Amino acid sequence: MTDYMKLGDTYLLHTYNRFPIVLERGEGIRLYDDKGREYLDSAAGIAVYALGYGNREFNDALKNQIDKVMHTSNLYYNEPACLAAKDVCEVSKMDRVFFTNSGTEAIEGAIKTARKYAFLKDGRTDHNIIAMEHSFHGRSMGALSVTGNAHYREAFEPGIGNVRFASFNDLESVESLMDDMTCAVIMETVQGEGGIYPSRDEFIKGVRKLCDERDILLILDEIQCGMGRTGYMFAWEKYGVKPDIVTIAKALGNGVPVGAFAMTERVAGNSLVPGDHGTTYGGNPFACAAVSEVLRQFREKDIVSHVRKLTPVLEKTLDEIKDRYGIIKERRGAGFMQALELEGSCAPVIEKARENGLLIISAGANTLRIVPPLVMEEDDIAELGRRLDKALKEA
Ligand SMILES: *Cc1c(COP(=O)(O)O)cnc(C)c1O
Repeated sequence: MTDYMKLGDTYLLHTYNRFPIVLERGEGIRLYDDKGREYLDSAAGIAVYALGYGNREFNDALKNQIDKVMHTSNLYYNEPACLAAKDVCEVSKMDRVFFTNSGTEAIEGAIKTARKYAFLKDGRTDHNIIAMEHSFHGRSMGALSVTGNAHYREAFEPGIGNVRFASFNDLESVESLMDDMTCAVIMETVQGEGGIYPSRDEFIKGVRKLCDERDILLILDEIQCGMGRTGYMFAWEKYGVKPDIVTIAKALGNGVPVGAFAMTERVAGNSLVPGDHGTTYGGNPFACAAVSEVLRQFREKDIVSHVRKLTPVLEKTLDEIKDRYGIIKERRGAGFMQALELEGSCAPVIEKARENGLLIISAGANTLRIVPPLVMEEDDIAELGRRLDKALKEA
């Protein structure tokens, strides 16, 4: 055990069983530990580091902002927040955005917006929200209450109340839970932590239609699947639907903690007003400088096209691996958000991968999750394939 592991195990609250390495620095799509060992990274800090490590222009943009001012509060305008707000609205085709510090806070804001929208319509406060089984929306109390994994919620009940769980990709189950007190449907366009399950076309379109017919707000959580990950800037684009409220985080700051919820003008104009919501840090100049630089690089490097172009390469690599190992039941996913579901626990594979210089994470006990930096090239995918193949063989 190195000193840092000992320190961490002594002083950090034990809410994670950490893998036994100490990561020190990164370069491109590779991370290095304190012993100088190199790892190819197929996790990207949980779908965060889309633009890769040691990104010179990104780092310079941050340093530049640090030298000006990092924080001002939302009591004043600041230049990076105004610019980043325009950037996020343009890229998401939403009209107004609120910046948060994390994904879970974006969910809190989306829930409050939906409740306020319904409250302004009928003056009542007992509206319900329909969420999905096996969903994941975060760890704060509101987000936890709409998270469809009972194990995460159990010890912390009661949650926010009036939440109903439908089964994902089952339109009838959503419709059967709707009534005239339903204010929102919240779902991930592609379920992430729940095991990488994309929405079916007829499902998401059907949900959109039901919401339209009844003036129910559709909240799409694109915290993991958004920002180019599926080969679309936002995963909903593939289906030709649009949410009323979107939540974004993870890749939005490329490592700087920042999230956002954005909405259409119709929702913005009929929900939150001054005094209804706030944050001390959210949208501060430092975080927003990161957001604008991330989106600038997305444009400059055409990250979305890059992902779309290399998706068949990644899928083929994973399919070939699947064909070699009987314990792999299925490959599924979208773009650079892929899963290999195993017959049993994937823990031994994850361990062997690490020994072979590959960082890989799971989504549930039996599913390997591949969410690499979006700047991965063809050679990197081949290397990922070789190291994963070796890990599976040894496991
Ligand atoms: C990670 C994640 C969240 C929570 O984001 P945090 O930044 O960890 O609070 C919410 N929804 C989805 C889909 C996520 O993947």
